[in-house]
Amino acid sequence: MTQIEKNILAIKKLIADYEKKYHREPHSVRLLAVSKGKSANQIAEAYQVGQSCFGENYLQEALLKIAALSDKQIEWHFIGPIQSNKTRKIAEHFAWVHSVDNIKIARRLNDQRPSCLPPINICIEVNVSNEETKSGTDIDNIMPLISYCQTLPRLTLRGLMAIPVQHKNFTDQRNECRKLCSLWQSLRDQGILLDTLSMGMSNDFEAAIAEGSTLVRIGTAIFGERHKHV
Ligand SMILES: *Cc1c(COP(=O)(O)O)cnc(C)c1O
Repeated sequence: MTQIEKNILAIKKLIADYEKKYHREPHSVRLLAVSKGKSANQIAEAYQVGQSCFGENYLQEALLKIAALSDKQIEWHFIGPIQSNKTRKIAEHFAWVHSVDNIKIARRLNDQRPSCLPPINICIEVNVSNEETKSGTDIDNIMPLISYCQTLPRLTLRGLMAIPVQHKNFTDQRNECRKLCSLWQSLRDQGILLDTLSMGMSNDFEAAIAEGSTLVRIGTAIFGERHKHV
């Protein structure tokens, strides 16, 4: 078995362990393998042991891999920042987009989603840590964006996503993750249908699962370190 294959199996085992440890339903947390900066061959290794959802951040790089792996049943998720001129290709080639943070991008993805495909699944990216440099919508602006997304027929609003500030300490990680989960819960309590909480990366996925994540996005722990610029 290759290292990537072993890592996938080990991470899946850990996710199952954490589901148990934090009293989560079995299989309530999905694994998204984040393959930015990694090759189609490396993705194929992960696929070999049953991993079928992959996350990409950079459109041009992703399109090459999507084409190279088109014989496989892969569900592609776009998780990077989105410029307006990229929405058409994203709408054509991805099943999910986790990084929708404004009305313009939502409208373009809706309008450009090909009619031969099912509606595109989206998460709204929220800036929970309120850092000026981070992408994601402010918590104050989330309701108008949700209401708008609900009017778009070619787009299915699935949940919220965040990239919280990174802490080393487990308690701090949990506190950070709890902010997004509380928001998600309060929206659900208002009757908004959201089944996905996209939260948790290589360094904090235990904290994220403890706080209710339903989808963890893991790159480094599966594929190893990336070069700095990716
Ligand atoms: C790169 C990236 C990840 C994966 O991060 P790792 O620390 O390598 O697990 C998850 N989510 C987003 C949005 C990313 O850009």
